[in-house]
Amino acid sequence: MLLEVNKVSRHFGGLVALQDVSLTAAAGQITGLIGPNGSGKTTLVHIISGFLRPSAGQILFEGQAIEQLKPHQIARLGLCRTFQITLNPQRMTVMENMLLGARQQLGERLLMAALHPQAVRREEQRNLDRAWHLLEMVKLQHHANELAGGLSGGQKKLLALVQVLMADPRLILLDEPVAGVNPRLIDDIVEVIKTLRKGGQSFLIIEHNMAVIRELCDTLCVLDMGHVLAEGPVEDVLGREDVLRAYIAAGGQLDPDTAVAGGGQSTEA
Ligand code: ADP
Ligand code: MG
Repeated sequence: MLLEVNKVSRHFGGLVALQDVSLTAAAGQITGLIGPNGSGKTTLVHIISGFLRPSAGQILFEGQAIEQLKPHQIARLGLCRTFQITLNPQRMTVMENMLLGARQQLGERLLMAALHPQAVRREEQRNLDRAWHLLEMVKLQHHANELAGGLSGGQKKLLALVQVLMADPRLILLDEPVAGVNPRLIDDIVEVIKTLRKGGQSFLIIEHNMAVIRELCDTLCVLDMGHVLAEGPVEDVLGREDVLRAYIAAGGQLDPDTAVAGGGQSTEA
């Protein structure tokens, strides 16, 4: 199993944000994580990516315990979150942001750079080629030399998505990839994720938009009040009455910010 969360709990003072949460994400699949507001999704993603320590429990990534590692160490193992690499989108061009995504690998090889300058140049050329290829895939190639700060919100999300690919991640953690994106661009983002999945890329996605969840995910894990309410194939999980009830109890829909199955409000032009 690519990622295994084993009985993870997290308390904030007296508040129990997560209690004995276990879930898995398989290689080559898209695993969805959903749940009403306050159910613990963000806390879990922070713990998986090393920004928070669990109060108890274990997280295995490709068999290695990672719950005590720092975010950059986890990223280096190949478990990457989209926002982790972006440093200064306002003052860097789209292409510079892409190359920054690959930077981590090169920076560690100073000795190699000194001993094998040609090999390093070849790697830089490979990174450039790959960046162009990825920018073409998300139709941002014509913006390569513009400041990333000038992109629309949806284009920034696409850039963040292909930027993280520059690091060759084994598993990508996506926190609400289409939140606040206009419907036209939602389709683009969904298509890109589907294309990447066909190429073998694994994802763990938190998303409120149920149409997107149904379209993308192989398996789904539902959190409710810090517990795993259901886990399994998407259609099985969404067909369960207790899952439906949890959402009705939370306000009659999956999340206040998005309506069920499309029709969600969009905040970005
Ligand atoms: P979700 O992302 O599913 O909306 P969160 O993980 O953000 O849920 O929050 C789960 C619970 O933990 C909520 O009750 C929230 O108020 C609480 N919580 C999250 N982060 C903190 C924190 N840093 N300090 C105290 N309580 C927190
Ligand atoms: Mg959240």
